Amino acid sequence: MNIFDIPAFTDNYIWAIQIDDSITVIDPGDSNPVLDILEEKKLKLKDILITHHHYDHTGGLLELKKYMSGKVYGPKNENIDGIDTALVEDDLIKTLGHEFRIIETPGHTLDHIAFYNKQTKVLFCGDTLFSAGCGRLFEGTYDQLHGSIQKINQLPDETKIYCGHEYTLSNLEFVISQINSEFIKKKYTETLKKRSMNQITLPSTLKIERKINPFLLETVPDDIKSLKDEDCFKELRIRKDNF
Ligand SMILES: [Zn+2]
Repeated sequence: MNIFDIPAFTDNYIWAIQIDDSITVIDPGDSNPVLDILEEKKLKLKDILITHHHYDHTGGLLELKKYMSGKVYGPKNENIDGIDTALVEDDLIKTLGHEFRIIETPGHTLDHIAFYNKQTKVLFCGDTLFSAGCGRLFEGTYDQLHGSIQKINQLPDETKIYCGHEYTLSNLEFVISQINSEFIKKKYTETLKKRSMNQITLPSTLKIERKINPFLLETVPDDIKSLKDEDCFKELRIRKDNF
């Protein structure tokens, strides 16, 4: 499966899965960049997948529905207009011949879900896990978000992380202020270079995230290592909010 990004707003990524001349898009916050791509590359829109209700992930949905041939799959949340199939934990959906399992990931919002394809180890995780960081808590509790991220952490090393925003550089700035690691410093330098050329830093992999993303609790600052997992996660989230 070919996956490419459609940049939207200042730092959102609308992801597109392409098979032949058809695409399925994930989290179209804006319809315009998607419609431009459809026209430019002569593609047809099949389905839409939604991870959570925030406007920058759903804003283009209703307009795009006029151009699509398939369905809109999203969380069980009546406040999202236009969802055809509401999904819960372990539901399986098929789009363009590929199966995705639903992982409920509450925390950033209560309705948040992620889409995982086992065959290609692709994860669309919206605003739950970012490269070198995680989503802010808007609706859930620290324990909920911690639990959601640990669910993602059960997936294999090779899992490719397709998240909703280009936040890698600012996340790494926080991480290098907390953890002294040559690997993280190298990653920061690479990221700085990519961003200075306006290049995308995604997808990441779980293998890399386990070394650079403290929110997975695999690599954490020395001074909070001895805390219980839940407390360590909460402390990290608070530190990041105040950074
Ligand atoms: Zn969000």
